[in-house]
Amino acid sequence: MIVSLHVASGALAGTLAGSRGRALALGLLAHAAGDAVPHQDVASRAFETVSGLAGLLLLAAARGPLDPAVVGAAAASAPDLEHVLRLPRPGGRKLFPSHRVPGWHRSGGLPASVQVLAAGAVFGALAAGPLYGRVGR
Ligand SMILES: [Zn+2]
Repeated sequence: MIVSLHVASGALAGTLAGSRGRALALGLLAHAAGDAVPHQDVASRAFETVSGLAGLLLLAAARGPLDPAVVGAAAASAPDLEHVLRLPRPGGRKLFPSHRVPGWHRSGGLPASVQVLAAGAVFGALAAGPLYGRVGR
């Protein structure tokens, strides 16, 4: 799953979780679940990084940096850092279960464009919610 949709699904999970602790756990689970959905990936690391960070920053700006949605989003995107950073690889394999177990991360299926649109819709809804709430009060 592309990074921005990992961020978005983690934000959604964090919102539903209601607390930071549960948001952290559900965010990690959302990443594992997202990797199991057959999906296209984006080859551009720059696009992945910029779009993921933009989503995270937008949510932090709209909801506050410690909002469960932001905690969930950070937790759900953190596992993919091991694709970029040099982390230990016990037995030559990556750390996070969905990267470690062969066949978990599945390619093909959900087009990248659909994932980008879905991520954008989630960011819009989660960022706009508190803003509208503020205006309405
Ligand atoms: Zn992953």
